[in-house]
Amino acid sequence: MKHVTNIYFDTHVHLDQEEFDTDRDAVLDRARQAGVETVLCVGITTASSRATLRLAETHPQVCAAAGIQPNYCAQAAEGDWDLIVAIADHPRVVALGETGLDRHWDFAPFAVQQDYFDRHLRLAQQRDLPVVVHCRDAEADLMPMLREAFRRGPLRGVLHSFSGDAATAAECLELGLHVSFAGQVTYRNKKFDALRAVVVTIPEDRILIETDSPYLMPHPLRGKQKRNEPANVVLVAECLAKLRGMGLEKFATQTTANARRLFGLILQC
Ligand SMILES: [Zn+2]
Repeated sequence: MKHVTNIYFDTHVHLDQEEFDTDRDAVLDRARQAGVETVLCVGITTASSRATLRLAETHPQVCAAAGIQPNYCAQAAEGDWDLIVAIADHPRVVALGETGLDRHWDFAPFAVQQDYFDRHLRLAQQRDLPVVVHCRDAEADLMPMLREAFRRGPLRGVLHSFSGDAATAAECLELGLHVSFAGQVTYRNKKFDALRAVVVTIPEDRILIETDSPYLMPHPLRGKQKRNEPANVVLVAECLAKLRGMGLEKFATQTTANARRLFGLILQC
């Protein structure tokens, strides 16, 4: 009898980072064995976006997103943005980001974050690329910018590692965006009950899954292993499927189809 493995798409990883320098290929092998057919490796600086693209060029399992993350945009040198614009045309770059706004850390002046977020949104719309959005404690500032972009024209993308409330999720959906959940949904702490309640409000054709590796280790590995990796997206999927009262196989198939459609990988990967 053929062994049936569910097919997963981890829509947010930082596999270019040094945490993976010693065993990157083994990490991707473990992911493949767990059924993780594709990972979207997301850039946070120009150097990281380049490294991410290099990974995508050498590993069929990897696709790339190019961008400058809000916490890193104050460090961006002259010419860095032009490089993002240039590599956005590469066929293995399937999204722009990560971009967005972050009020949790104070690594970049907020006006600079807004400027870079605006650039990513405009470029994404010009090139018809999806945008990978990071938002930490900044929903009140983020939503007006997304609304403004939506008024300009069609908007595609994902709010990654979603941590907002149901109203924010509902408005993101109205603006044409997808919502992606990471390991926080698996955390036992009661304070994540509100996030778990948001999970069931997302229509089945707009929900995505991610690990945000090497961060956000899901339960029950949290506290036992330090570095998260794409194979663990299965733990996130199991938790989400249970919350939504559906079978894991159906949920895996659905979220993989959603990601392939959003990132245009129906034929490529
Ligand atoms: Zn990220």
